[in-house]
Amino acid sequence: MWEFFTEPEFQQKLDWMTAFVRDECEPLDLLFPRPGDPYDVHNKASRAILAPLREKVKEQGLWACHLGPELGGQGYGQLKLALMNEILGRSGWAPTVFGTAAPDTGNAEILALYGTQEQKARYLQPLLEGNIVSTFSMTEPQGGSDPKEFVCKATLDGDEWVIEGEKWFSSHARYASFLIVMAVTDPDARPHERMSMFIVSAETPGIEIIRNVATMNERDDLDEGTEGYIRYNQVRVPLDAMLGAPGEGFKVAQSRLGGGRVHHAMRVVGKCQRAFDMMCERALSRRTQGKLLSEHQFVQGFIADSALQLQQFRLLVLQTAWIIDNQPHGAARTHIAMCKVALAQVLHDILQRAVQLHGSLGTTQETPLGPWWAYAPQLALADGPTEVHKAAIAKGMLLGYQPAPGLFPTEHIPTRRAQARARYAAILGEHGL
Ligand SMILES: Cc1cc2nc3c(=O)[nH]c(=O)nc-3n(C[C@H](O)[C@H](O)[C@H](O)COP(=O)(O)OP(=O)(O)OC[C@H]3O[C@@H](n4cnc5c(N)ncnc54)[C@H](O)[C@@H]3O)c2cc1C
Repeated sequence: MWEFFTEPEFQQKLDWMTAFVRDECEPLDLLFPRPGDPYDVHNKASRAILAPLREKVKEQGLWACHLGPELGGQGYGQLKLALMNEILGRSGWAPTVFGTAAPDTGNAEILALYGTQEQKARYLQPLLEGNIVSTFSMTEPQGGSDPKEFVCKATLDGDEWVIEGEKWFSSHARYASFLIVMAVTDPDARPHERMSMFIVSAETPGIEIIRNVATMNERDDLDEGTEGYIRYNQVRVPLDAMLGAPGEGFKVAQSRLGGGRVHHAMRVVGKCQRAFDMMCERALSRRTQGKLLSEHQFVQGFIADSALQLQQFRLLVLQTAWIIDNQPHGAARTHIAMCKVALAQVLHDILQRAVQLHGSLGTTQETPLGPWWAYAPQLALADGPTEVHKAAIAKGMLLGYQPAPGLFPTEHIPTRRAQARARYAAILGEHGL
């Protein structure tokens, strides 16, 4: 059965969220606009505004909706989460207000699956309550998309692991209370069994943030960088800091990445919708050559192309969420990769048109469009580059196919026509054909 409607009770929740994000979260975007601001747990002013907003979200039963009931969430499932995340994606702060900000969501999943009781009490609980933030520390300066290139290592010394090496783009490390770090523990093992995952308290001696790297929508000179370039100098952690078994680093990483990618996609739908709304308003407000922008065919093309791309992408995301909810674990793998590729492309294309339609104003910092436009290339890399996901999509698709049995393709018309002639030879013969 195919249905395209929202239950009325749930629609009420979505309506409440829409108004709340617009009226309560978007002011935070304006007052604390840097990408790192939602993670800055030391900023007393932003936290003072944030705390009562979170209470209101909790009163509505909308806190941390990505989590199942066992972890204090509502267990809405991915399809409803997709509809909710579309609303949250309109605002930079909204995921923090609703307890669904990355990378904390994925790190919480890792801790829930692999943490000890003590680690859960010390790190998971305050993370779920939104009192601390965390970092995922996997990428290295010499290699990101291929983890087989990683060299940061952890060696056993008595009853401690000693971590040594560098990590790159460990987002929000400057504010994190703990880091989840992937390190080589057995360099001689098979490539996917060389690494293990560790939880490391940010207070552990030897963690050196070499610098906080600024992305293209942050200012280096204002020290706004969110991407931690970290050196782990003989960082000692206890044996139980290992999450999962030795050599299971890849497996542990995968447990967070699939969900993270699809949640990004859900939020990008919301960002694109907001840019599209701005585009339409502008087209109806501005005149050139004696008529409204909306009356020029090029502009109509911008709007039509954007509406088509956005709706195709939204439906892909919703279908992916449905597969996650309704089919066995892993069934959505190719769809998640499709969402990951599409999210960067669709955001890029719609933002490019939205900026263009706003003319000079679109290129300024006086609308949200500029920072979002600069975000598009980052989305094509974070959680793995587009090219790697395209290769995965192709491999997933090719699994359903076989090589042609003979010299020519199965769709070869002369071969098929000969087969059809043979099948109907008697009738064709009766009619002299
Ligand atoms: C905003 C942002 C946040 C991030 N946050 C984190 C984080 O919190 N923690 C973390 O550990 N990492 C994080 N990353 C890092 C991210 O995971 C890496 O950028 C990504 O894996 C790519 O690695 P790389 O940057 O080293 O690029 P490279 O591996 O050098 O790849 C560069 C390019 O090479 C090409 N390429 C690579 N592999 C293939 C292939 N198989 N086939 C064809 N072409 C290929 C692609 O064009 C690719 O874009 C973040 C990145 C960004 C941009």
